[in-house]
Amino acid sequence: MNQEEFNRQLCDFISCASTPFHAVTELSRRLEEGGFNRLNEDGLRELKPGRYFLTRNGSSIIAFVCGSESPPHEGFRMVGAHTDSPCLMVKPAPEKLRNGYFQLGVQVYGGVLLNPWFDRDLSLAGRVSFQCDDAQLRTALIDYRAPLAIIPSLAIHLDRTANDNRSVNAQTDVLPILFQQSGDDPADFRALLKARLLEEHPDCRVQQVLDFELAFYDTQAPAVIGLQREFVAGARLDNLLSCFVGLQALLQSDGSASSLLVCNDHEEVGSLSAAGAQGPMLTSLLKRLAGGQHGYAELIERSLMISADNAHAIHPNYADRHDDNHGPLLNRGPVIKVNASQRYASNSETTGFFRMLAAAQEVPVQVFVVRNDMACGSTIGPITAGTTGVRTIDVGVPTFGMHSIRETAGTRDAWDLCRVLRHFYNYRGPLAAS
Ligand SMILES: [Zn+2]
Repeated sequence: MNQEEFNRQLCDFISCASTPFHAVTELSRRLEEGGFNRLNEDGLRELKPGRYFLTRNGSSIIAFVCGSESPPHEGFRMVGAHTDSPCLMVKPAPEKLRNGYFQLGVQVYGGVLLNPWFDRDLSLAGRVSFQCDDAQLRTALIDYRAPLAIIPSLAIHLDRTANDNRSVNAQTDVLPILFQQSGDDPADFRALLKARLLEEHPDCRVQQVLDFELAFYDTQAPAVIGLQREFVAGARLDNLLSCFVGLQALLQSDGSASSLLVCNDHEEVGSLSAAGAQGPMLTSLLKRLAGGQHGYAELIERSLMISADNAHAIHPNYADRHDDNHGPLLNRGPVIKVNASQRYASNSETTGFFRMLAAAQEVPVQVFVVRNDMACGSTIGPITAGTTGVRTIDVGVPTFGMHSIRETAGTRDAWDLCRVLRHFYNYRGPLAAS
């Protein structure tokens, strides 16, 4: 695969992965195609060397390779990313009928940049729970795919100061319009979902839709753009880009060393959930693979985690938002993220290790440190380091417009990061300084 094909596949992956549930479905499909075996909890007993994956809540996934040596003996080469992105999610009782327009009430998931959500062709996707005709509870994923809603801007004629000081009220200003309705009672959203379920899953035997986790998303497909085609623009680059990069690196690795990719849900809301990085998913898997407390201590001591999540590139129109010496550029290499307050988990040992990996692949490396007078974001890196005790580094490709409905990255950086991570997965030397 060359760089162009890599970016084309990245765009395809993001298009399929409209929600964390769809991301995990697509990751699972590609892992199975690549020879990974799906495990349930029972399947963890006495694993032979081989390729495996398991999921939790349908929205987090861990794929791993048991190499020729036992994981506690050689440690895991781990890469982490997250499957969720900021978005607008439908409220449980969402129906609104105002001026004849059927709208849905939404709640804000994560740190959404709200302005770019106006005037977009939106679709809806996620998970639905329902009762079947045999009285059993089931869940299924749906994705309307087509544009079916819009949040129109207020015309500038009705708000003359819009360009100077228009703010967005998340409760009142961002309800998407789905259709025009005659009559006084709003349509029943669950009845609409039942019809969609039957379209996508004709054999699902749905009797009644019970509940749902549905998110709006932009239907504009991700694309390679720019006069020299050096940028990739799309929704959810944070952090599906890193999920895709980790997946490709793992699929392309030679499988000789113990390697692991974890993609967690709920990073954008703090990671504390059954499927999140602050939950027990990774720790309990590692404990079982280590086969006891002593093995676990060895495994943690010998492992290393590269937490991959996008970094803020310096924006030419707002260059003063970066420290002069720490403003990463698109297409100039993956970024090491450092923060003295441990908002990023990197330390000089792990960053040194990453620099050596990158140099071996002739990939340039950049560094990001937030300005002292601004707050710093975080990642699953410090959380995973804190819950497992594994030495960790935070890295990511530079992007513009993080948490916008459409973000921009460089076509070279994801490709370069993938080469470094593949080298990491194949690396047979010790993962710690001697
Ligand atoms: Zn992120």
